[in-house]
Amino acid sequence: MPAFKLTLSFLLFSLYCSATQAEPLALVETACKHISQKLSSVYNKQCLSNQLIDSGYRSNQNKPLLIKEYPPLARRKPQAKVLLIGGIHGDEYSSVSILFKWLNTLDKYHSGLFHWKVIPLLNPDGLLRKHSRRTNGNGVDLNRNFSPGANKQASLDYWAKRTWKDKRRYPGPAPLSEPETQWLDHIITEFEPDVIIAVHAPFGILDFDGPHKAPKHLGSLHLKLLGTYPGSLGNYAGLQLGKPVITIELPHAGIMPSAQQISSIWVDLVRWLKNNAQHTKQNKALLQADTDSRKLSNID
Ligand SMILES: [Zn+2]
Repeated sequence: MPAFKLTLSFLLFSLYCSATQAEPLALVETACKHISQKLSSVYNKQCLSNQLIDSGYRSNQNKPLLIKEYPPLARRKPQAKVLLIGGIHGDEYSSVSILFKWLNTLDKYHSGLFHWKVIPLLNPDGLLRKHSRRTNGNGVDLNRNFSPGANKQASLDYWAKRTWKDKRRYPGPAPLSEPETQWLDHIITEFEPDVIIAVHAPFGILDFDGPHKAPKHLGSLHLKLLGTYPGSLGNYAGLQLGKPVITIELPHAGIMPSAQQISSIWVDLVRWLKNNAQHTKQNKALLQADTDSRKLSNID
């Protein structure tokens, strides 16, 4: 092929690529626009100022999965690494909105004591649709799609027998079948968080899985162990991997807690982290007793 034809082909290919691949920044801007249109408590300008990063990973329906990292300050060794996740279920609006409030708090006051990774919306396909729903773009409940390596059939059996095949709780064809759970699993493996905090709604309590002493309350939310489910994040990260998982269940899916409540949950959470979270891989020894004492139940 003559040289000019090769050059022309390359130019056309480059043009095609630039036309089909949006810049990461443009993707973040679009995501902020859609999130702020959906959630009255999140403002577009504020979302943009949070400077979320496009992880490069995509949801089932090709939406960018966004993350923000707050590394320890220079020459400061973090006390612990913390992973904070909202919007695992797309119809729990408050679980996303409150993450944006806490992003603002971290933007202003991050001291470097902890190394944070914050995912405000794990399930953009569930939230960003006309009628938001619990499941992802593929109709899978992400909080039933974890537990790789566990009995593959356990989640499906539980779904069939204990939820009568409730569509809202479909665990997917296999553990980690979904891009959103694959991404989170990748972060857990690479980042090795010492504590995982997942925000849900609307039970108005705290749940806890894994080793360590659970917080008795965060703000006005009190500890009430709901039990674990095959495929849940608490079951996987808390019981299989031995990492403490705090589940914050806000009281309402569609109504935000008061500003004072949002702040007092945060203050109590950070206090609990200061007193309990250490960078350690030795948590598994505490695991078995906890696993034995937990029973399955059928709430969120
Ligand atoms: Zn939930």
